[in-house]
Amino acid sequence: MGYDDQNIFAKILRGEIPCDKVFESEHALAFRDINPLAPVHVLVIPKGAYVSMDDFSANASDAEIADYIRALGTVARELDLQESGYRILANHGRDAHQEVPHLHIHLFGKRDMKGMLP
Ligand code: 5GP
Repeated sequence: MGYDDQNIFAKILRGEIPCDKVFESEHALAFRDINPLAPVHVLVIPKGAYVSMDDFSANASDAEIADYIRALGTVARELDLQESGYRILANHGRDAHQEVPHLHIHLFGKRDMKGMLP
């Protein structure tokens, strides 16, 4: 799948549409999902134009990858999820029903997630 720069997260990154930002670093942005499935439902995205984890891991620089992974952990800490726990999940492509074709990892917290698989 090629990268579509008109996807909604590309527009958020360009500031063309707003988001409820919770964290930003050099290479990552985290913001609240518009349709939350948990009291904490944050999407963590790389700022670079990557569709999926296979694309990102093959084509991003080590600095981007390190910063992105650190961003996930930082968001979990800043939202105080270490004790209660949290789930991270990413959908890629057709079989996983990826809705937005820009890599995003969902971070869920502050609810019991037994049986929940979005
Ligand atoms: P996917 O199904 O691709 O893993 O998840 C896409 C997520 O993006 C969904 O949870 C959906 O609610 C969220 N989403 C779609 N459009 C917007 C938007 O304009 N703003 C925000 N913050 N989230 C969005």
